[in-house]
Amino acid sequence: MKVLVINCGSSSLKYQLINMENEEVLAKGICERIGIEGSFLKHQPGEGDKVTIEKPMPTHTEAIQSVVEALTDSNHGVIKNMSEINAVGHRVVHAGEKFATSVVINDAVEAALNECIELAPLHNPPNIIGIEACKKIMPGVPMVGVFDTAFHQTMPKEAYIYALPYETYEKYKVRRYGFHGTSHKFVSEAAAEFLGKPLSELKIVTCHLGNGASVAAVKNGKSIDTSMGFTPLEGLVMGTRSGDLDPAIVTFLQDKENLTSEGVNNLLNKKSGVLGISKLSSDFRDIEQAAEKGDKNAQLALDVYTYRVKKYIGSYIAAMNGADVIVFTAGLGENSASTREAICKDMDFLGIKIDPERNNVRGKLAEVSAEGSKVKVLVVPTNEELMIARDTKTLLNNK
Ligand code: ADP
Repeated sequence: MKVLVINCGSSSLKYQLINMENEEVLAKGICERIGIEGSFLKHQPGEGDKVTIEKPMPTHTEAIQSVVEALTDSNHGVIKNMSEINAVGHRVVHAGEKFATSVVINDAVEAALNECIELAPLHNPPNIIGIEACKKIMPGVPMVGVFDTAFHQTMPKEAYIYALPYETYEKYKVRRYGFHGTSHKFVSEAAAEFLGKPLSELKIVTCHLGNGASVAAVKNGKSIDTSMGFTPLEGLVMGTRSGDLDPAIVTFLQDKENLTSEGVNNLLNKKSGVLGISKLSSDFRDIEQAAEKGDKNAQLALDVYTYRVKKYIGSYIAAMNGADVIVFTAGLGENSASTREAICKDMDFLGIKIDPERNNVRGKLAEVSAEGSKVKVLVVPTNEELMIARDTKTLLNNK
């Protein structure tokens, strides 16, 4: 079975074609500047060289058409014709309370996703447009929706209800949802497999530290809490997002700086986080370099960042009455040994001890905890596309 995985943004569309017999990535790529002058597609067949194809893509329909053409091209293609694509798996950001697992897409599912637009006005519309475009270009090919929120639907009510008037939940569904669910699920399953233990017997804290970042408490295979909430703004300090703060700051800054709700939203989502503190960059590589050269704000940004992750790990260990494993994943979690070390420093009272030599690892599955550390610390590269393809295969094979 060959599954085409689609992650559709407002002006970009990422894709991977995966052969599910052996989980090999046959080709991957990205369409950029959809709907804008100068659109192009970057396509990479297997381990082969990247090609850039410039062509107009006024809408996502032309983008999907271009993806199919690239996949079937006589030079850089990897399949003979479109009929070799057996299914499409779509990444969808928000499914509200409607779906707790991935689902086969039909009209009722699409209607449900349309109802969730209010909860994710920036993300769900392009995801739905991607689904529509695939229906047009590949009629009859079964499609599956895989949601960022689904894995966290197992959170108990005490973890997801905000202490606001209860009507805000009843009327508007204001509650904590959590995101990055596909990644937290993937790495917790991979960690259990690596340790040779059943996931149903493990307490795992998964730390997805990328541009966006979140921590999840995964108890016996189920998410019981996670740091992102109603939107991806809550929780950890991120590249450009503030994460947790006193909500009174919002109205204080609106008054002081004469900001509209859009203005303050922009400040919290785009100008805060490590970018805001460091005044330098949202990329941790730049910040780590500057800190090494003695830049005080860069060092402060790293300190605030790691302190917040440490606090979340501690609180989730309390929530689960212990932990067997801590997993680091995504850009920073997989690549930055110094961040992992700083987060796990002085946590030996909880049974967490990193081995500096083992920790000197980048982007591969490895144990980095010291011999005898009660809690295992693992680096597990995430692979959301593969998780989407696996869910797609499972759902369609069981149909
Ligand atoms: P996204 O959320 O966009 O998928 P990624 O998971 O790719 O993000 O993470 C991107 C972030 O990872 C970058 O902003 C960068 O700060 C960080 N990162 C990647 N490689 C390294 C590295 N070698 N050292 C430190 N940070 C890194």
